[in-house]
Amino acid sequence: MNVMFRSTRNAGNVVTASQAVLKGLAEDGGLYVPEYIPGLDVSLEALADMTYHETAYAVMKQFLSDYTEEELKYCIRCAYDEKFDTPEIVPVHEADGAYYLELFHGATIAFKDMALSILPYLMTTAAKKNQEDREIVILTATSGDTGKAALSGFADVPGTRILVFYPKDGVSAVQEKQMVTQKGDNTCVIGIRGNFDDAQTGVKNLFGDKALGEELHRAGFRFSSANSINIGRLVPQIVYYVYAYGRLLKRRVLKAGEPMNVVVPTGNFGNILAAFYAKNMGLPVGRLICASNENKVLYDFFESGTYDRNREFVLTTSPSMDILVSSNLERLIYRAAGDDAEKNAQLMQELASTGAYTVTPQMRERMKDFCGGFATREQTAQEIGRVYQETGYVLDPHTAVASSVYHAYREAQNDTTPAVIAATASPYKFARSVMEAIDGAYGQMDDFALIDELSKLSGTAVPRAIEEIRNAPVLHDRVIEKEEMEQAVKEFLGIA
Ligand SMILES: *Cc1c(COP(=O)(O)O)cnc(C)c1O
Repeated sequence: MNVMFRSTRNAGNVVTASQAVLKGLAEDGGLYVPEYIPGLDVSLEALADMTYHETAYAVMKQFLSDYTEEELKYCIRCAYDEKFDTPEIVPVHEADGAYYLELFHGATIAFKDMALSILPYLMTTAAKKNQEDREIVILTATSGDTGKAALSGFADVPGTRILVFYPKDGVSAVQEKQMVTQKGDNTCVIGIRGNFDDAQTGVKNLFGDKALGEELHRAGFRFSSANSINIGRLVPQIVYYVYAYGRLLKRRVLKAGEPMNVVVPTGNFGNILAAFYAKNMGLPVGRLICASNENKVLYDFFESGTYDRNREFVLTTSPSMDILVSSNLERLIYRAAGDDAEKNAQLMQELASTGAYTVTPQMRERMKDFCGGFATREQTAQEIGRVYQETGYVLDPHTAVASSVYHAYREAQNDTTPAVIAATASPYKFARSVMEAIDGAYGQMDDFALIDELSKLSGTAVPRAIEEIRNAPVLHDRVIEKEEMEQAVKEFLGIA
């Protein structure tokens, strides 16, 4: 049976999976969610012997049910290939009493590659299925990692163009260099004077602008989104939690049916929502531990039931989590409201007008598997230093936030359930913060010297993604005000 997708803000807006992938965001501003969450149709025992590709097919076919077997297997094969530096795709590294799920072995060495390697294939397949012959224009706001992963996924894909906006002073040196050196005739990268939320709000407004949409339509273009609001990003992210469970079975850490906890360094709430969907598919997941940095809106939300973005935005050492409005939380709110689009729309309206909303006690009850924690910049640096000193394993700052939160949780709750920590970026991507955390004396060196030091100290090879940008020329150097985003889009498409 086909699983259909509904907007979280309008129960009457129903589309197929491939249409939801093509659209990204619903016209009413809502996000597409599956009408129900399908169960896994393979036994838990069987997961122990399944490859990443097999697991991906078993999970994704349940949701993307209007793609044929051939189409889906083609997308999976093209996405998870030699772009990844290990045939395992997602290795599970045991260290320090936890299991680090290494989601950073793809082309841009951050977990966004897990979904953005496959999204272009899902999208171009969806365009064919729906007789869409207009050119697809991917508009993306990035806190650093999505931008490069999306550029890398869509560069030179026929029938698509991609425009990425990033906060000029809100990303790491390596993140910026990765983006501004992007090749491909269909790519464009622009810095915004503002923070990630400004960039994200700007992109959402462009999507919601009917007049602009019609102008584009006439010119032969349609917008879509590579942000984690696209269901085509969420579904591929469910896969690795199911895969992780299989690995823990294989190593006899767990017996089939026993729970694992999941710890996720969280920003836009996409990654941890995928773990929640995995649980709802029948995967034995215990607690979903949501780790934040000092922008701890989500921690406060899980503690109090009130989501309140009215606070100072803090630039931290984990920039991909510097977010005050977590878009994907809307999908959880919708579900906690009993799949009630009207109730959800009302809360989102409150968020837009006052910057805050409070959920009911019944909704909180339905979210009780989640718990929040946060780590300050200092705690994050200490965690990188501690784990390195004690085990030799080097964490990136995002993963270190999760690791720090996990150890605090474990101690406070006395919960010894095996825990999978989503390791969302390679330490090479944030070499400066990482090396300074290990030894303050490294502060003097330049970024690439630090990268070479990191390689020596960790005994790991410098990833290809870093070698590629070492001497690459800057191809995109434009910086604009956030009010100029619409104009920039038109110029890029040649319709200004
Ligand atoms: C995007 C990102 C996150 C946050 O993930 P969400 O799905 O937005 O919650 C965490 N760490 C890294 C390295 C990222 O790139």
